[in-house]
Amino acid sequence: MTSATEVPSEPLASARRSCHCGELREANIGESVVLKGWLHRRRDLGGIIFIDLRDRTGLVQVRFNPGGDLPEDRYQAAHHLRSEYCLAIRGDVQKRPDGTENDKLDTGQVEVVVREFEVLSESKPLPFQVDEYDHTGEDIRLRYRFLDLRREEMQRNMLMRHKAYKATRDFLCGEGFLEFETPILTKATPEGARDFLVPSRLDPGKFYALPQSPQLFKQLLMISGYDRYFQIARCFRDEDLRANRQPEFTQIDVEMSFVTQDEVIDAMERLIAHIWKDCLGHELSLPVPRMTYADAMLKYGSDKPDLRFGCEIHDITKLFAKGCNFQVFNNLIKKGGVVRGFAFPGGGEKLSNTDLRPESKFSKRVTRETGIRAYAWFKVTEEGKLESNIAKFFEDDVLESLRNETGAQPGDVIFMVAHEHAKTCAEMTGRFRLLIGHTFELIDRDTFAFTWVVDFPAFEWNPEEKRWDVLHHPFTNIHDEDIPLLGTDRMSEVRSLAYDLALNGEELGGGSIRIHRQDVQSKVFSAIGISEEEAEEKFSFLLEALQYGAPPHGGLAFGFDRIVMLLTGEDSIRGVIPFPKTQTGLCPLTNAPGEAPPEQLKELGLKVTVKKKDPEGGSQV
Ligand code: ASP
Repeated sequence: MTSATEVPSEPLASARRSCHCGELREANIGESVVLKGWLHRRRDLGGIIFIDLRDRTGLVQVRFNPGGDLPEDRYQAAHHLRSEYCLAIRGDVQKRPDGTENDKLDTGQVEVVVREFEVLSESKPLPFQVDEYDHTGEDIRLRYRFLDLRREEMQRNMLMRHKAYKATRDFLCGEGFLEFETPILTKATPEGARDFLVPSRLDPGKFYALPQSPQLFKQLLMISGYDRYFQIARCFRDEDLRANRQPEFTQIDVEMSFVTQDEVIDAMERLIAHIWKDCLGHELSLPVPRMTYADAMLKYGSDKPDLRFGCEIHDITKLFAKGCNFQVFNNLIKKGGVVRGFAFPGGGEKLSNTDLRPESKFSKRVTRETGIRAYAWFKVTEEGKLESNIAKFFEDDVLESLRNETGAQPGDVIFMVAHEHAKTCAEMTGRFRLLIGHTFELIDRDTFAFTWVVDFPAFEWNPEEKRWDVLHHPFTNIHDEDIPLLGTDRMSEVRSLAYDLALNGEELGGGSIRIHRQDVQSKVFSAIGISEEEAEEKFSFLLEALQYGAPPHGGLAFGFDRIVMLLTGEDSIRGVIPFPKTQTGLCPLTNAPGEAPPEQLKELGLKVTVKKKDPEGGSQV
C-alpha cells in the first residue's frame, strides 16, 4: 500500500493497483489507494452515490461525493455506473461516519472516497444478480458460469479448492512423493464404468480411451522404481450420472512401493488430517478408526457408513427361531432369509401409530427411498413393554430379547426389515436408518466422522451375468492364504487387501495393495472370466512389466471434488468444480457435447448413424 504522496498520477486504467478491495481496514485511514474490481451493488441516494466494489478478496464501500472530491462531469458520469461494470478507482480511505459502520463486513469500518474513476469495461444487464444466489436455477448459473463464479460463495469454494490442492502437494512432497502426469489418451482402465473413446485420425478405425483412473500407469511407475508417486489426476468415467458424479472428476492418486496396508493407511490418514488442518484449522484425531466390511454392512447397511449418529443395526434373525408366529418372518427365515432391526431413539413421540401404517405418507416414503416393501415395528412403552399391531404373534420372551438386542429404551421405536438375501436386507435397512437419521435430524452436522473400511471380500457374485465380479479393480491383491481358493467354489471367501475411507456416509476414497506377481494376476483374471487373450489384448503391458522385478506396492485414490465438497459444506460436487456438467452430462456454457463437422468425421473415418434428438421433441435422422 502506498501513501497519498506516493501514488503516482499516471492514467488510472494503467495505474498499478495499490491493494485489494477486501484488505482495507481502519489502519489504512488517510491513505490514497488505487483499486480495481467490479461494481457489486450501488445505492444512488440522489446526492451521494455509494457502490460496493468487489474483487476476489471481498468488498469495500466506495463513495462518490458531489462537488469537491470529483470534478462535476465525472460525478455525473458516476450515475451511469451499473452492476458488474469493471472499474478502476483512485481515492482516499476514510473512517465511515459514526453509526454507518457495517460490522458484518471486514472492511465495514472504512470507505473509499473517490477522486478519480475509470470504466475499464461495461457489463450488459445481468441474467441474474451476482449477489442473489438463492433465486437462480442451476441451469442458468451453469450457462453463465463466468458470472456465477463471481459470487462470494463460489469464490470461497474455489479458494478452498486451491487450498486443498496446495495442502495435498505440501504434504505429499514433504513425505517424499514425486508428482507425475500420466497419459490422457490411452487404453481402457477398468474401474467399473464405460470408457470415453477418442477416435484416432492417424490410425482410422482405432480409438484411444480416456483413463478411468491412472491405475495402470502408477503401477508401472512403481515397477520403474519411483517408489512414491502422486498425481492430482483427472479421471473420466462414462456412466449414468448419479447424484454427485461427474463424467470427469479429480482424484488425489497415490502409489507407494514396499509397503503394507497399514503403512498406506497411516500415510493417507495423515494426508487427510493435514488437509483438514490446513483448510479448516480442524484437528483430526488419529488413528482413524477401522471397521471391517462385514461389520459396516451389518451395523450400518453400507460400506461407507455414516457414523454421525447411532441407530446401529442388529441381526435379529435368530431371535425368531422359536416363539414367533409371524409368518412373514418365519417364511423368509425358512428360505435362508434374515431379519435386521434398529432402534430409533425417541421415535415413539415422532411417529404416531397412524404414521406407521403401511399406507401412510411416511411408509410410502420409506418404500420409495429404501426399496423396503413393508417394515415391522414395535413401540417401547414407558414400562418397557413392546407394542405393535403384530405384537400378538410374538411370545413375551422373544420381545424381551428383541428389546435387549436392539438396546431400545422406553419411548423408542424398533424397526425391522426382513429379506431373503442378506445383502439386500442390509442395504435396505441401511437406507432406512439414514432416512430416519436425516428426517428426524439425528445427525450432528458439525462432526467429521471418519472410518476406514477394511477386509473387503475380493469378489462378488453377479447373479444377472452369472459370474464373479471384483469388488475393487482386478489388480487388487488378495490374502496369500486365499490364493488357492481362486477359481474354486469358495470364491466368496477370498479376502482382498483393499481399504476405503468413509466420511459422514460418503466414500472419500479407496485403494489396495496390488498384485505384483504375474502368475497371481493371471489367476485373478481367469477367476473373473477374463480370458488369456482378452487379458493379453487389454493389459499385456502390465502383465509383461510384472515379469521384470515388480516391487510389492499399493496405493489409493481420494475423490478430490468430494473432499472439497465436504470441506466447504456444499451438498453437491458441482458447487466446487469450476466448470461442471449437468446431471445429464451437458455443459450449458459451451454446449458440449456438440456435433462434429462432416469433414472432420471423414478424416476420422467415422459415420454417424444414430438419430439426432430434436429439441422440439421428435427425432430426425
Ligand atoms: N484406481 C483406484 C480408483 O480409481 C484407486 C486405487 O486403487 O488406487 O478407484
